[in-house]
Amino acid sequence: MTLEGRDAPPPSDPDPRQVALRPGYHSPQVEAEVRLNTNEAPEPPPAAFVEALADELRRLPLNRYPDRQATALRAALAEHHGVDPAQVFCANGSNEAIQCLLLAYGGPGRSAMVFEPTYALHSHIAHLTGTPLITGRRDATFAVPPDEVARSVQAAASLHGPANPAVSFLCSPNNPTGGLETAGNVASVLALVPGLLVVDEAYGQFASWSALELLHSEPRLVVVRTFSKTWAMAGVRLGYSIADPEVIAHMANVALPYHLDALKQVAGRLALGFSQEMAERVDAIVEERGRVSGGLAALGVEVWPSSANFILFRAGGCPGAQVWRGLLERSVLIRDVSDWPGLEGCLRVTIGTPYENDRFLSALSEVLSTPGAGT
Ligand code: PMP
Repeated sequence: MTLEGRDAPPPSDPDPRQVALRPGYHSPQVEAEVRLNTNEAPEPPPAAFVEALADELRRLPLNRYPDRQATALRAALAEHHGVDPAQVFCANGSNEAIQCLLLAYGGPGRSAMVFEPTYALHSHIAHLTGTPLITGRRDATFAVPPDEVARSVQAAASLHGPANPAVSFLCSPNNPTGGLETAGNVASVLALVPGLLVVDEAYGQFASWSALELLHSEPRLVVVRTFSKTWAMAGVRLGYSIADPEVIAHMANVALPYHLDALKQVAGRLALGFSQEMAERVDAIVEERGRVSGGLAALGVEVWPSSANFILFRAGGCPGAQVWRGLLERSVLIRDVSDWPGLEGCLRVTIGTPYENDRFLSALSEVLSTPGAGT
């Protein structure tokens, strides 16, 4: 984060020995009435869920360490996804799942591969775990071209040996660009990489397809999911990955003892009982996404198609930082990614409630019609 509270671009490759000197990764915490900057759910979880949670928490033996295997939560997630509990690893947010994966499979001499622009934590966690990074680039439509994958794999192999990249990342839908990887894309990347392929599906419920469908036949595929978005539980910090039991066992080996507290184990298990309510919320957000997209297009800004709960856009000749600041002056906070390589001038807005989305669109309309905008 810069002094002005805007987002910093992803850092360039640092000296791995200087890890403690790197700035941490944070989105700006700026006061605003309408907060559309971190892709959270716009509403709190259902009241009946909160009541059930409070009830169970009252009975929790907090003097005891939690179940180290998170048995009940993993069983509930396994049932939810139609997999075996041995294929599920739960963590403190999907970020921790990614960290465990890179602790287990990355480190010196075992590289990770990402395709920028993408979710900044993939490269950040690679750096934190001392994992060398191979960075490929997306094309003008933000797709990952197969020849770029092949080139990057070759670069990894020649730098670090034939088993590299050890871990490759796709993000589907991709944050912050919003595009979905098709089954064909995932399969073709799997065919090109020698190691694990992680498909980060933090926004998977907003999309029409999930890489989970490929899991049964692909032991090198790891799908990462979170309770932070669809499940309206960003404050709980709960995520998980689904993969081959051997990969899951390796992830569990590098997690700290009792890393997953008893409260979130209960919260996650109970939340899965509200799948129907959550699916209805997803439908409402997808509908609002269409409306906000249309509203943006009507304002004459460039809009990218989104399969997630956010939209990437660029306000033509008006610098992204200026638009971001103009919105904040109207108490609307969105994400400024305009100085990320490949995203020049771009901003990302989370889909909020209809009221919040209206506030955003009318604030943007004012900002863009202010004399001097676009100069
Ligand atoms: N993956 C992606 C693509 C994300 O956008 C985010 C949150 N911004 C995460 C993972 C992390 O989610 P959490 O740690 O809250 O589960």
